[in-house]
Amino acid sequence: MTTRRKLIAGNWKMNLLRAEGVALAQAVAAGAGRADVDYLVCPTATVLSSVADALQGRAPAVGGQDCHDQMSGAFTGDVSAEMLADAGATHVILGHSERRHGLGETDEWVRAKVQAAWRAGLTAILCVGETREERDAGQAFQIVSAQLFGSIPPEGSTPANLAVAYEPVWAIGTGLTPTIDDIAAMHGHIRSFIAASYPADLAPGIRILYGGSLKPGNAKEILALGDVDGGLIGGASLKAEDFLAIAAACPA
Ligand code: PEP
Repeated sequence: MTTRRKLIAGNWKMNLLRAEGVALAQAVAAGAGRADVDYLVCPTATVLSSVADALQGRAPAVGGQDCHDQMSGAFTGDVSAEMLADAGATHVILGHSERRHGLGETDEWVRAKVQAAWRAGLTAILCVGETREERDAGQAFQIVSAQLFGSIPPEGSTPANLAVAYEPVWAIGTGLTPTIDDIAAMHGHIRSFIAASYPADLAPGIRILYGGSLKPGNAKEILALGDVDGGLIGGASLKAEDFLAIAAACPA
């Protein structure tokens, strides 16, 4: 019997101006009716503090979409984990495929960012996932294992300060999803890999989210899987109705 609470997290990406973000967060707050579900929204950096101020500690929690690994310094355009925390964030998404593949972030760099998140008291949501070519070549488990091993610091991880989001690159924003069996197999693999590689309390407690074209129409089946502890949602998180419908699809 699992005691892991579901986490339903929205990745707003580079969308919404402040007033729009605040309105969406208020609508999510108004509808966040599941006491057994944790809600999170991740606005862009310029919108984050306005959303956090408007929510005043009510659900949803607020997270960043990335952070630098250093606390401060000559890093033009970057935001530190401490700055996110100061703006009201409690979480930060790290290693998203749009940064790994779009901007060349390496596992080593992502690991430094995870450590930075912990230094600032943030929970890191670590994204991993294979490309279509890697899946077709039968390498999906191997790629995800390598990303986990390279991105999770060898010490310091706990079920409270780390969550993993399995996001197949080819499913993000495409409307495509893996089969339910493939999602179940990968989530089981991730938990087994963590059990074999990290302190014993991590694997049973860590939340492993699914991300990639999660929608109200497919959420029930995916969120019912035993090793799926929530979702990381892009497109459907920009409409409160859809985001809340996904949360409502979590098994009671
Ligand atoms: C994401 O970018 O994290 C994501 C899962 O996007 P979408 O839900 O739009 O596929």
